Amino acid sequence: MQNNQPHPDIARILVPEDTIQAHVKVLAHQISRDYADVDSIYMIGVLRGSFMFLADLVRQINVPTVVDFMAISSYSDASESGEVRIVMDLHEPIVNKHVIVVEDIVDSGQTMSYLYHTLKGRGPASLRTCTLVQKHQEYVSVPLDYLGFNIPDVWVVGYGLHYEGRHRTLPYIAELKETVYKK
Ligand code: 5GP
Ligand code: MG
Repeated sequence: MQNNQPHPDIARILVPEDTIQAHVKVLAHQISRDYADVDSIYMIGVLRGSFMFLADLVRQINVPTVVDFMAISSYSDASESGEVRIVMDLHEPIVNKHVIVVEDIVDSGQTMSYLYHTLKGRGPASLRTCTLVQKHQEYVSVPLDYLGFNIPDVWVVGYGLHYEGRHRTLPYIAELKETVYKK
């Protein structure tokens, strides 16, 4: 059932749908310009959170793209052990390819840093990063070449991002009420 009221779990909308869509266009334009001379871009979506962003982004890029995915161990696993691990790897080698890794959100930067160094070690022709949102600018040790939005340090959902599997399909990025995630 559709209506215009945000879901009761939502505290406030941080990035409205039209703002996301406008910025996806800007990022796609920058990428199309930066890669105008390459045969194709190998776009890697980090599952599951980036699926919606990647789908919108690649449809606005006017250079040929190949889409592939990786899945990384969940946030709760990683924060306990302090390590990040690949649970699903790429379909093809990336040697000599122009690679952009597309993330939903960069928080501590641990996941993006792990991905960056792992992919770099596989010998791509070039490697850049793209993330829709970033929480902590101070932590990140790898370049975020294409960035959507900086947001405060709150738990966000929507546009691919979830809380316990819910709210992924909201068209905007919203702050979850603390009462929902600090039970
Ligand atoms: P890292 O701390 O390694 O930068 O982020 C790890 C992962 O945690 C992100 O890729 C994302 O999947 C998840 N994450 C971090 N903050 C949030 C958030 O506010 N909402 C959601 N849904 N996921 C988050
Ligand atoms: Mg992620």
